[in-house]
Amino acid sequence: MLVGHVAAAFVAKGLHPRLSLGTTVAAALLADMLLFSFVLADIEHVQFRTSPTAGLHFTGTDIAFSHGLAMSLFWSAALAAIYVWRRGDRRAAALLAAVVISHWVLDVLSHRPAGSAVHGLVPMMIIEGTIWACAVALYVSDSRSVNSAGRYVFWGGVAALTYVWHDNAFGLPRGNPPQDAPIEGLLLLLLAVAWAYWMNRAREMKQRRR
Ligand SMILES: [Zn+2]
Repeated sequence: MLVGHVAAAFVAKGLHPRLSLGTTVAAALLADMLLFSFVLADIEHVQFRTSPTAGLHFTGTDIAFSHGLAMSLFWSAALAAIYVWRRGDRRAAALLAAVVISHWVLDVLSHRPAGSAVHGLVPMMIIEGTIWACAVALYVSDSRSVNSAGRYVFWGGVAALTYVWHDNAFGLPRGNPPQDAPIEGLLLLLLAVAWAYWMNRAREMKQRRR
């Protein structure tokens, strides 16, 4: 799951426009950034699939630090505490905490039993793709571009995220996944967060009509 998490970040931005889209995307992807960091640090471990069938190229074997419920609650509280300390906005901090927890919820809902990677994948991709399309449409109708980046870089980023998400599920593993995937995954997520911070400046939220 990738774009489903980013969709939650778009919704949170719409609920509280003063929150940066970059911060909501960072909150939504926090668990996966921690996962790739912990795998690189040899703290958590994932198992790579060798068969070139469609589906995720790896499954987590011990990922409780980044993806367990107790630790997800801890990370969400930690992020909210940092936000209150830095910005003093409790409502925004509560929303960020909810976005962090949404990652856990969405991962649990999309969990497929081991060994049945293909079964259930297509319906889940359709559901996630629909949520993503709705979240992007909502954000686009609630905001306007203030410069050309807000148009072209925005849609380029949406296309890139959609492509990577699709490729993760249906593409064949490339290179040497055990060596490449953690660092590539981490860099991709950091790029997504940087893009979201940029888009937060390149697009502004419209005033709500009441
Ligand atoms: Zn995850």
